[in-house]
Formats: sequence, structure tokens, C-alpha cells
Amino acid sequence: MALITFSSSGLYCAQGNFYIDPWKPVDSAIITHAHSDHARPGNKKYLCTHDTKPLLKLRLGEDINVESYNFNEPVFINGVKISLHPAGHIIGSAQVRIEYKGEIWVFTGDFKTENDGISGKFEPVRCHNFITESTFALPIYKWEKQEIIYNNLFQWVLKNNSEGFCSIIFAYSLGKAQRVLIPLSKTGIKIFGHGAVCNVNETLINSGHNLPAITRISSETKKEDLKSSIVIAPTSAENTSWLKKFQPYKKAVCSGWMQVRGNVRRRNADAGFVLSDHADWPGLLEAINATGAQKVFTTHGFKSVLTKYLNEKGLFSAEVKTSFSDDEEGKEE
Ligand SMILES: [Zn+2]
Ligand SMILES: [Zn+2]
Repeated sequence: MALITFSSSGLYCAQGNFYIDPWKPVDSAIITHAHSDHARPGNKKYLCTHDTKPLLKLRLGEDINVESYNFNEPVFINGVKISLHPAGHIIGSAQVRIEYKGEIWVFTGDFKTENDGISGKFEPVRCHNFITESTFALPIYKWEKQEIIYNNLFQWVLKNNSEGFCSIIFAYSLGKAQRVLIPLSKTGIKIFGHGAVCNVNETLINSGHNLPAITRISSETKKEDLKSSIVIAPTSAENTSWLKKFQPYKKAVCSGWMQVRGNVRRRNADAGFVLSDHADWPGLLEAINATGAQKVFTTHGFKSVLTKYLNEKGLFSAEVKTSFSDDEEGKEE
């Protein structure tokens, strides 16, 4: 039996009797990161990085049983060596390396190869079998350098500000919201946050992360204070009456999906910024190549395209069925 199998509850290691990012409740779950399609409730025991632990508690409750580790720190379960390695996706995100009797598997969880300065630098890990996400596995997905995107965002916000508009920026509340704070804090314009974003920020600040201060929007927030300001909101707030308070405003969406022509209009936004927390097509290929893996399993997204491409290159690749959402960037949980 293979060291890792693809069961109906998730990726499973029989030798260690644990799962990785299971989508059904199990006894022992290794969690790559705190996004809701990877970190689900109901597991008896969770294992993750130190940075993921407080985020798991925020999302799943204080009373969960969670053990946390440093990157690269080995943990042994019934002779299976487990270690977590930076995935560069969001704060705390990890790839999982599993080794037993010389056989090595790596599961990426979600990852990106560009270093965003807050999520840890993606670390290529050598292995025999590599299970990779493939959210943006189409050759059309090729990201511009984040500095260029940050600058565009910066200019857009300044223009809105000078014209008396509030800039509402829709970004996933865990990950993207913190990442866009870097360029936004440099504008010198006051930044407000939706409760979902502020909850994550406060959790991170309490666990020692340095993030620019933002002000929580509440029923007491005065309309005149919001004039020409910046608001960071989760995508779930996109078409709700919550936005009325910010009028007049301009809306922007920050997501890899904004690369597709028409998506800005479809989302009823004034601007789209192609800023993703997933690897683009060159990033995926570079990551696969760096592992030296003989077998590559694809999950999550355009897996058939990636598998076909790898097969044509002479590499063994197969798609695996998982329950990770294909576009968590586009949908808030
Ligand atoms: Zn994710
Ligand atoms: Zn995911």
C-alpha cells in the first residue's frame, strides 16, 4: 500500500493513521493552512504550524485540540516522519512532507512562489511523490510582479481619494486582506476594515505579527469619517446593503481571477487587481521541477490541464479527487 492514499475523507497515511486537510471529521488531522476548505471542524486532534494555530482557534473555536510546530521541525507518528515547510500562500501556510522507510511524499496545500513578505518564502522540498494544487494551472495565468500591482492599487486609491470617493477593496479576509495592507498603508489614507478582516488582523497581532493599524467599522462609525477613506472587506460583503454607508465609493476586487477579461465587469467592480495567493502557471511548473518528483498528483482547480501537460512531458501524473474548493479566492466562505 502506498504511504499516502486518496480516501473518501481526504489524503490518508495508513502507517501513521492520520489525514491531511480531511474534509470529513477524523481522529488526527494535519492542517496545511486555516482557509475553510482545508481546515474543517470536527477533528479530534489538529496538527499545524505555530502561526496557523491561533487562526484555527479563531475559525474553529478555542476548545479544539491543536498541537503546533515550527517549520522543518520533525514530528514522528508510528515511525512516520512528518515536517511542515513554508508554502508562501498565507500566514502560517505549510506544505506537508511525509517520510517513511526512505519514501518521501509532499503535499503543497495551497502555495505561491512569489514571496509576499508576510506568508513565509515558499520552500521547494525534494520528494518522490508530489501532490500539488493546480488552482491556476492554465498557461494564460502568469502574474505580474506584485510591486507593479501594488503600485496600480496605490494609484487607484489616491485618485479616488482626490475625487472624494471611498475605495472599497474586496479581498479574502485571511491572506489577501493582510497582504494588500502593505501598499495601502503607504498611501497615508485612513484604512477601515470589515469585522471579518479585523478579527483576523487582531488574532495575528495578538500572536506577534506586525500589521498596519486599521479601524473596525461598526454601527457607531460616522459616515463623514469614511469619506475618501479605504475600506477592506471580504468578498461576502460585495453586493450587500452594508456598502451604502460608504457612498460615494469605488469598488475593486483583488484576485487572480481578475486576469480573465470580463471578470471585473461580471463582478460589478470599478477595478480589478490581479493579485493572487496561488502560484501561476510558470510558478507551478517551477515548483514541480524543483521537487525532482517522479510522480505528480494534481488537486484543486485545472488539474486535468496540468496532468495532461506533465504526461506529455513524459512525467507520471494523475488527477486526484479532493473536496478543496476550486476558487476560494473568488468566494468567501
Ligand atoms: Zn488557501
Ligand atoms: Zn485551497
